[in-house]
Amino acid sequence: MASSAKKLKLSTPSTTTESKTKIDDFANQIQKRREETAESILKYKFNKKRVRIISQEQMVADGCEGIVYWMSRDSRVQDNWAFLFAQKLALKNEVPLHVCFCLIAKYLDASVRQFHFLLKGLEKVAAECKKLNISFHLLEGSGAEALPQWIIDHKIGAVVCDFNPLRVPMGWLEGAKKKFKKNVPLIQVDAHNVVPCWVASDKQEYSARTIRNKINSKLDEYLTEFPPVIKHPYTSKFEPEPIDFDEAIESREADKSVGPIEWAAPGYENALKVMKSFIDTRLKIFATKRNDPTLDALSNLSPWFHFGQISVQRVALCVQEYKKKYTESVNAYLEEAIVRRELADNFCFYCENYDSIKGASAWAQKTLDDHRKDKRTHIYTLEQLSKAETHDDLWNSAQIQMIKEGKMHGFLRMYWCKKILEWTPSPEEALKYAIYLNDHYSVDGRDPSGYVGCMWSICGIHDQGWAERAVFGKVRYMNYEGCKRKFQVPAFVARYGGKVHKYIKK
Ligand SMILES: Cc1cc2nc3c(=O)[nH]c(=O)nc-3n(C[C@H](O)[C@H](O)[C@H](O)COP(=O)(O)OP(=O)(O)OC[C@H]3O[C@@H](n4cnc5c(N)ncnc54)[C@H](O)[C@@H]3O)c2cc1C
Repeated sequence: MASSAKKLKLSTPSTTTESKTKIDDFANQIQKRREETAESILKYKFNKKRVRIISQEQMVADGCEGIVYWMSRDSRVQDNWAFLFAQKLALKNEVPLHVCFCLIAKYLDASVRQFHFLLKGLEKVAAECKKLNISFHLLEGSGAEALPQWIIDHKIGAVVCDFNPLRVPMGWLEGAKKKFKKNVPLIQVDAHNVVPCWVASDKQEYSARTIRNKINSKLDEYLTEFPPVIKHPYTSKFEPEPIDFDEAIESREADKSVGPIEWAAPGYENALKVMKSFIDTRLKIFATKRNDPTLDALSNLSPWFHFGQISVQRVALCVQEYKKKYTESVNAYLEEAIVRRELADNFCFYCENYDSIKGASAWAQKTLDDHRKDKRTHIYTLEQLSKAETHDDLWNSAQIQMIKEGKMHGFLRMYWCKKILEWTPSPEEALKYAIYLNDHYSVDGRDPSGYVGCMWSICGIHDQGWAERAVFGKVRYMNYEGCKRKFQVPAFVARYGGKVHKYIKK
């Protein structure tokens, strides 16, 4: 296990009986709002622009025996447009509803930490599905491998999947499209973004400035309340296979030395607790203090967002209720959680080189190339970086925060990544190392916002050119002195214990 309870630094929501009652009340209020919106998805006008039909076939065949929601990026029941659309099809066709999660053995640089968060969250989804008379199935292999035969065996009439712009899940979707029986519609619903990625913009956007209005002008239409996923009236003729979630975690091909984190427990209810504590205690200082890593001002919800265990749209709906009271903070939060986050999906969806220097703008590629041969003051190996063994105690402390807590403070993520550019032999290696470390240790890693964060830091995407200097060229530079002006560097270093290591060139 990577972190010890004594050293927990991120806000851990209270678990007293009183706070449990408060959270239950909060959850009930949200459920009431869903029920007030519509009795069920059948009585709700579904916005079809959230949907893309991937297959040639568009109609559900008569006589089918079920509809599948192929759950992947959005592992939650409520406030999930893909789940709701699947239930709508199942209710219309008067057939059972199934949820299939297709689990692969290894995913990019994910460690056991991330598989644990995912699978323990899915265990809760499975229990919630059971209460709603919806069968939950954990299938081994990707959707393209596991689903084609499964949907034939169970006479499935349509498959609804959620949306992920990244290469690997897009590959699963392509594979599924080729292998599925031709008369089974495959339908994708963007359940992750408030404004569906393909609606927000039909091209790669240059920066937050160019996408902001495209998103914000559509919020009246898309930032709406959800109807509930209801108890399903049609029962499956077959029982799902029993699932051993612990065994599923244990059997992944993932680094076991990077274990689960303790401050963040997986699942929707835990995300609700963190959201409630954010609104109650941290939102008021979000606008002014979010760049100070020594303070607790952030929402800390990115692990749950990444796995889709809570909907960003739900959080945005709850946070915006405080717009009168904390105008600046609410605006700042919505800018980050909607505009910046959805800009990251836009980049990964429209730029196939989203994790490569080739994906940078021409000016950035040129300037990095012009400075390729510049002398680096320090050069570190991946191992030295991994072990937080640089000459910079702030950088080492940030790295330790990520190793121990599975989440580095947002401001330090930028500093941390820019230093990797400064201390590695080439921008290509810098990007490779940054992505590897971020994806391996961060619970919210392997996410469009992660690739975009690394690309912003190292090759200036969504940014402009700055005064030219060594190594960075015109890419924005950050330094230790700048951090000292922004916050109490010694306080952060004392908290995480990063040391100044003597520079050893390897
Ligand atoms: C090098 C680097 C790596 C990053 N890696 C990841 C990653 O792996 N996963 C990830 O989700 N984010 C990543 N980010 C973006 C950002 O730092 C995190 O989203 C944020 O720190 C998450 O913490 P929070 O939920 O407390 O955010 P808050 O500050 O409370 O912000 C609210 C929400 O806004 C969104 N958000 C905030 N900042 C950004 C941003 N710069 N870009 C896109 N969305 C943003 C997130 O969804 C976040 O949950 C990275 C940024 C950089 C510079």
